[in-house]
Amino acid sequence: MSDQSSSEQLLDLVAQAKNRLRHLAVLGVESVPVKEGLTKPKPMEPATPRAVTAPRNVSSPVPTPRSVPPVVSQGHSGSHAGSGLFGDMARQTERLEASDETFTQIWSDVGNCTRCPLHQERTHVVHTNGNQKARLMFVGEAPGADEDIQAKPFVGRAGQLLTKIIEAIGMKREEVLIGNVNRCRPPGNRQPTPEEASMCKPFLLREIALCQPEVIVVLGNTAMQNLLGTRVGITKLRGHFQDYKGIKVMPTFHPAYLLRDPSKKRETWEDLKKVRDYLDSTAKCEME
Ligand code: URA
Repeated sequence: MSDQSSSEQLLDLVAQAKNRLRHLAVLGVESVPVKEGLTKPKPMEPATPRAVTAPRNVSSPVPTPRSVPPVVSQGHSGSHAGSGLFGDMARQTERLEASDETFTQIWSDVGNCTRCPLHQERTHVVHTNGNQKARLMFVGEAPGADEDIQAKPFVGRAGQLLTKIIEAIGMKREEVLIGNVNRCRPPGNRQPTPEEASMCKPFLLREIALCQPEVIVVLGNTAMQNLLGTRVGITKLRGHFQDYKGIKVMPTFHPAYLLRDPSKKRETWEDLKKVRDYLDSTAKCEME
C-alpha cells in the first residue's frame, strides 16, 4: 500500500470516527471508553461548537401560559424517557449551543442511510427543506408516499394544508424550514417506532442547532413527544408554548389529522396565531 493511500485511509477513518462521535453526542453520550493501553479516555467533544449562543427567549415578550406546565425538554437524550414533566431541573436551563456545521455536512452524514429498517422500503431519504436561516420551523413525523417519491417533506395533501396554514399567518412556505423526525417513509405510513425515531432524530437536532429558529411548531404527537421527550399527549399540550433548549416550541395538530377532522382547524388556527404574535413581538424588539 502506498503512503498516499494509507494516509487517505487514515483520514477517512478519522472522519468516520468523528461522525460517529458526533451522532453519539447528540444522543446524549458524553464519553466513550477507550481500549486499555491506548490512551486515557477524554470527555467527548460535543456535537456542536462550544460557544454558547445568547438565549433568544430569556425576556420573552409573550409569557408562557401558566395553566399547562411546560415540559422539561429531553430532546437530547432518550426520546421516550417519559419523565418530561418532572425531569432533571438542570436540563431546564440547558441552552442550544451554536453549530459550525453545514446542512450539506449533516446530509452527507445521513448518507445512503441503513441505520434502521425504514431504509428497506424507501425511495428517497427526505431531508429537511426550506429556509436554513428561518425564524420558524415546522417538524412532522415522517414522509408519506408523495414525499418519498419527490424527496421533499410535506408535499402531499397534508403538505398542501400546511402551506395554507403558513400563509394564514402571513408567511410564505419558502420563509420557513420544514423537517421530520424520520427521513424515510414507514411502510403503510405507520408511526415510526421509538428505535427508528431515535436513530434519525439526532440529524434533526443538529439541523435545529444550526438553524436556531425562534419557534418550532411540532405537528402531532410523534413530533412533539420526540422533540420534547415527553409522553404527554398533544391534546393536553397543544396551544401552550413549550421549551426546547431555549427555543419556543408550539405543539399543534398534524395537518393529516385536520384532513380527517376539519373541526380541529379552529384550534390549530388559535395555536398558530400565538406563534404569529410571538414572532411579530420579537421582530419589533429587533427593530427597536
Ligand atoms: N406527514 C409528515 O409527518 N411528514 C411529511 O413530510 C408528510 C406527511
